[in-house]
This record gives sequence, structure tokens and C-alpha cells, in this order.
Amino acid sequence: MLPTRDDIPSLSHRELTEHLRLARANPGPYAELREALECEQAARSPGTNYCCPKCGHDSFERSEIRTARSPLSSLFNVQSARYTAVVCSCCAFTEFYQGQVSAGAQALDLILGS
Ligand SMILES: [Zn+2]
Repeated sequence: MLPTRDDIPSLSHRELTEHLRLARANPGPYAELREALECEQAARSPGTNYCCPKCGHDSFERSEIRTARSPLSSLFNVQSARYTAVVCSCCAFTEFYQGQVSAGAQALDLILGS
């Protein structure tokens, strides 16, 4: 079911990600909404209006961390969880944001064995 523009701010992160994925796969029905969805995602991005909760510094570095959800899944290198780490460039306080790895990225992991 398509959200309306008014619904977008109250979508959960998971729902917003899923609607964006659908918007890319089905440009037709989402034509009106895609821009609003992308704006919402940008506004929620970890680096938007960054302010370190420890020292108040406003610049940061970002890195990505992947981890398997269980020892068994690491054998097959599937179902990996991805986190974005946002590191304060003044005091190195680090925040983690969970992100989902797409099916395509998982398939690539299998091929590359990373
Ligand atoms: Zn800091």
C-alpha cells in the first residue's frame, strides 16, 4: 500500500527503506512520492545536522561495518548486518546506525568471499 506524503514523516526507518526500494523498482506508482521519500531519508541520515553528544563538535568521519548475525550464517556469509559508524573527529565518540544489506550486496559477498 502506498503511503501518502503526510504519512512519510511517521514511517519507521524500515518502512521508509522498503518504500524507497519499491520506488526504485516501480517508478510508475511512486512517481509522486519518490522525491519526498528521498528527502525524508536524507533528513534522517546519520550525518545530517551532526553534533557530537559528548563534546558538541560538528564534524565526523563515517565508516561501514559488516557483521554476521550468527556464527552459522558467517559460514555461508549470508544475513550479514551492516552498521554505519559515525565517529566524532574531535573526541572519537562513536555512534552506530543499523542498515540493511540488500540481496544484491549479499550475493556479491558470496562471490567475493569478503
Ligand atoms: Zn566529540
